[in-house]
Amino acid sequence: MSGKGERIIIISSMIVCTGMTYYFSFFLGIHTVYTHLFYMPIAMAGFWWGIKCIWVAVYLGVILLSPYVYYGLATIRYDDLLRSIMFIVVAWFIGFLGEKNLELKKRIKVSEEKYSLVFEHVPVGVFHFNETGNITACNNTFTEIIGSPQEVLLGINLSELPDTNIVENVKRILNTGEPLHYENNYRAFTSDRNLYISMDLVPIVINNTKVTGGVGLVNNITNYKEAEERLVVARQQLFDIIDFLPDATFVIDQEGKVVAWNRAIEEMTEVKKEEIIGKGDHAYSIPFYGYPKQGIVELIISNNKELEKEYNVKKKRGNTYIVELFVPKLNHGKGAYLWIKATPLLNSEGRQTGAIQSIRDITEHKRSEEVLKGQTQELARSNAELEQFAYVASHDLQEPLRMVASYVQLLARRYRGKLDSDADEFIEYAVDGATRMQMLINDLLAYSRVSTKGREFREVNCQKAVSTALQNLRASIEESNALITWDNLPVIYADNWQMVVVFQNLISNAIKYSGERRPQVYITMFKQEGKSLFSVQDNGIGIAPEFYERIFLIFQRLHNRAEYPGTGIGLAICKKIVERHGGSIWVESEPGQGSTFYFTIPDKEDEWH
Ligand code: ADP
Repeated sequence: MSGKGERIIIISSMIVCTGMTYYFSFFLGIHTVYTHLFYMPIAMAGFWWGIKCIWVAVYLGVILLSPYVYYGLATIRYDDLLRSIMFIVVAWFIGFLGEKNLELKKRIKVSEEKYSLVFEHVPVGVFHFNETGNITACNNTFTEIIGSPQEVLLGINLSELPDTNIVENVKRILNTGEPLHYENNYRAFTSDRNLYISMDLVPIVINNTKVTGGVGLVNNITNYKEAEERLVVARQQLFDIIDFLPDATFVIDQEGKVVAWNRAIEEMTEVKKEEIIGKGDHAYSIPFYGYPKQGIVELIISNNKELEKEYNVKKKRGNTYIVELFVPKLNHGKGAYLWIKATPLLNSEGRQTGAIQSIRDITEHKRSEEVLKGQTQELARSNAELEQFAYVASHDLQEPLRMVASYVQLLARRYRGKLDSDADEFIEYAVDGATRMQMLINDLLAYSRVSTKGREFREVNCQKAVSTALQNLRASIEESNALITWDNLPVIYADNWQMVVVFQNLISNAIKYSGERRPQVYITMFKQEGKSLFSVQDNGIGIAPEFYERIFLIFQRLHNRAEYPGTGIGLAICKKIVERHGGSIWVESEPGQGSTFYFTIPDKEDEWH
């Protein structure tokens, strides 16, 4: 389209030409021939400038009529008038068509602009090529992917691109007229790392037959490919880890198909990975049972209550199952005890994607457990027998001993000073011996009662247990003016009475072995994982390290009765009680610096291990 100035020149020269032509032709009397020449410029004007042409037509019409105005209406020639009117109508019509044409051009221009906008900014590399494979156009994204500016790329042959497959593929689409998709991996001109691209080649076909070139659409899929590669590596790592697990392990997907089968399960079942991967319909159970059977792993996917009963599921936390069972077919028909744990596999959104099952052959463990069980039972039986013996002995001995003691005491009362001095001394020894034996027998009875007369465990408020112990020790506390403090004493799960006994024995020892000082006892508790650790600290005479163990043995004492009275049973009873609760007891001390006795009481056992 011409510029504004150019348009004015053309219009004015056209008007001048037309006017002059008309005047000359009119006066020469040949106007009828020349007037036909009007059509041409009017038509041209119409096409070029559209609606403006209408004004030209109006103008021409006025010029055409002007001679009649000048020479009078008498000279009017109706055919000329008619022709003039026709000029105007034709000009109007041509102008109208021209206007339409202009609009169309405008629209084409807008759509061309839009296209070039999209072409330039689309995140896909786009290029056009002709039949000989030369690039005729390309967008910015394409230049970025190839790593070369447009000036260099335009006109070059596709064979010069780093994509080694392009020439062959372009040939193929030019020959077949069919589009083609492929992926490739190459290094762009200015890049220092390899690119992954996906390419769509589309032929440009004219009249359904002639292929005049094509369009290429290139996507840089490097990030996607690299992420995919990372995923493949991570997946492989995961499979390697599963393979490495010492427990026989397999994984199924949501459809129940086996997706992983590790080395340990290959060994256990003699079924190779290649034979089972991808198989569904409980194929994983065939090596164990000889036929397809819903496995424990199926409980996770199907939540089948019947199956749960069949497998006698003992432990379940959320969706994790632990089962122990005997499988006769394994071990070449000798059977095997299996410990099986199955748990769901979830994706990042928490949706279940499959399940994993680990199987441990615990046959050996079971056997040794059984042997151990037998031994433990035997030990328990002989212990019980011994305890029974100690109990019966101490209990039954009490009666004759009481008789001996009371008669010896009677002898002492009745014959003291009546026989000779030796006799008095001997009777004294006999009384003392009988009393001591009574004390020993009582202690032995108390010791044997720890297990025979132990009560059920329930919640014990240790603060209350300590208070009861102090109540029982009131006389000796008052006598010694002992200062007894405590804090942080919890509620535990134990035998209430036995806890009172432990506190009582430890506190009474702390008072008894205080030496010359005023006894000071501090009782506290430290919470540890799965247990409570109690400490009873005193400021007494202390204990040398070599006696740390010995003092807990029955009737073992570090002092004679003249120094400190006692039978050496207190700590043995404490040990027996603490061990009955599953805890342990020990001492830390330094002679002259006081002692701290520690003991632990485990928390109430959780159902789950
Ligand atoms: P007993 O007190 O009747 O001798 P125990 O079994 O209670 O019996 O104590 C065993 C020995 O441990 C005691 O003879 C004593 O020597 C030592 N002992 C116990 N408690 C303490 C203590 N708090 N300080 C120093 N020695 C202690």
